[in-house]
Amino acid sequence: MRYFPAFLDLHAAPVLVVGGGEVAARKLRLLRQAGAAITVVAPRLVAEIAAPAESAGVRWIARRFEPADVIGARVVIGATDDRVVNAAVAQAARAAGIPVNVVDDAALSTFIVPAIVDRSPLVVAISSGGVAPMLATRLRARIEALLDDSWGRLALFAERWRARVRAALTDLPVRRRLYDWLLDGPVAAAVRAGREQVADRLLEKRLAAGPEATIGTITLVGAGPGDPELLTLRALRALQDADVILTDRLVSAGVLARARRDAELIDVGKTPGGHGARQERINRLLVEHARRGRRVVRLKGGDPFVFGRGGEELEYLRRNGIAYEVVPGITAALACAAYAGIPLTHREHAQGLRFVTAHCRESMDCIDWRGLARPGQTLAFYMGVAELPVIRDRLTQAGLPPATPAALVENGTHDEQRVLVSDLATLPEMARRHAMGPPAMLFVGEVAALATRLHWFGVAPITERPAPPEAAPATRAA
Ligand code: SAH
Repeated sequence: MRYFPAFLDLHAAPVLVVGGGEVAARKLRLLRQAGAAITVVAPRLVAEIAAPAESAGVRWIARRFEPADVIGARVVIGATDDRVVNAAVAQAARAAGIPVNVVDDAALSTFIVPAIVDRSPLVVAISSGGVAPMLATRLRARIEALLDDSWGRLALFAERWRARVRAALTDLPVRRRLYDWLLDGPVAAAVRAGREQVADRLLEKRLAAGPEATIGTITLVGAGPGDPELLTLRALRALQDADVILTDRLVSAGVLARARRDAELIDVGKTPGGHGARQERINRLLVEHARRGRRVVRLKGGDPFVFGRGGEELEYLRRNGIAYEVVPGITAALACAAYAGIPLTHREHAQGLRFVTAHCRESMDCIDWRGLARPGQTLAFYMGVAELPVIRDRLTQAGLPPATPAALVENGTHDEQRVLVSDLATLPEMARRHAMGPPAMLFVGEVAALATRLHWFGVAPITERPAPPEAAPATRAA
């Protein structure tokens, strides 16, 4: 950013304008709106300046500019059509350390004046840093259209209530929620309709109800597998609106970087103690923050409803009467398959898809290995990298051929993604040799072999199988 944006308080401040033509008239109009005490130095004035000058007490010195004119001014505007005079104005102001703007001449200026959309007290200022004024003008037209006149009225309404709102709701996040309600809801509608008394009554009632009336919401958000580009638009919005974010270990830094900067970030993935203690604390935190009126985002890797315990947390919120919503995320199976070039279903090889966890509450006996060993499906194992030999043994014992293709995707969608492609019999050994670790997805089924040919992201897969023939006929008909 080349220029530091700021709004100057020029109320009753001495401001010198050099020039008496159309350009000066435009600047004068704004300066008068800002309440400046204006002195104009110019041999002649156009009518537009002359008339208000008399009535509004603008002081006119009817002669050419002299360097000493700048003395005592808070701000100087050079608005003549003579570059030599403008340069003299700029030089005198600079020498005296007074900020100076020469209209349409950034080189002579120490500050530039933005294009504005005026919905006082709300003012939008736009600048292209003097580089592309046309662009700024375009943007200004768009914003003009966006902000109808009621914005100014709404701002005045908010100003009138500000002290009382602050006194009634001392907690900042609670106040933010109130203002959201105020600006999006019935109060704003009433102000827009010119019914300020109705608006007053609505707000009065809401404040009387106390902070408890502004219970926060909880949004359970799927953060996807890591690549922040894979967040949904909805997830992004929730992250940018959040007051508090409770995040898991698997959520990537890139995703967190897209959250609202002053949101409180709580990493609940690292709580000491067992799973039970951790979940207990998470539940407590969620309810606590919501009761304080905060907008809470509970951020989970992948999708919150796929091996993410999202359901358990919602049960707890329900019991405690807290409202929630759920934003789905791209689960690791889908993301890793896509980024490894493994189509999960395929008309020739796989008519079904199973999401399986290799992390059971009791033992691996809880898994229906026979069902998994049936032909014609793709198996996507979560949390399985430590259990590869067990998974292989169980599947082959249940009847799946050891030569069934298998692929392991480590750190899927991240820059350091690695993919191994082999078959069920040899993959565990290969994974050990390549020191594959969590997080990783294991895919078992004919489609896993396609990664050697369809991969497109990151480094090529490491493979100990020949690539399948280009136009492979259906190996398993029907
Ligand atoms: N709710 C998550 C899954 C949580 S279980 C989801 O829908 O994706 C955690 C397991 O997910 C990990 O052990 C691993 O198997 C898998 N996983 C998550 N992110 C991954 C990634 N970027 N690459 C590979 N596997 C991942």
